[in-house]
Amino acid sequence: MPKFKSDAVPLPGDGPPCPRCQQPMLAFRHQQITKKQRQQPFFYRRWFRCYNVACKTTIVQFDADRQWNLEGERRESLERWLKRNEQRMRST
Ligand SMILES: [Zn+2]
Repeated sequence: MPKFKSDAVPLPGDGPPCPRCQQPMLAFRHQQITKKQRQQPFFYRRWFRCYNVACKTTIVQFDADRQWNLEGERRESLERWLKRNEQRMRST
């Protein structure tokens, strides 16, 4: 099986502004959804990159773009944990 460095496909147009520097970001999506994505609890349908070299933010992923492979209690538990983690990261 060939090994790709990245399966990220750029999406046309500007993405939303970077949460840190407010510059428009570039949007990406997976070239195709493979076993690798399906084996994870979730993956992101699209994500964004900030190319501003003066900005520390590189990759930005939004909850709304999360595609879940889990259901029920296991998903709720992981979602709760992710939210707690995010809050901790924002406060630092
Ligand atoms: Zn930025």
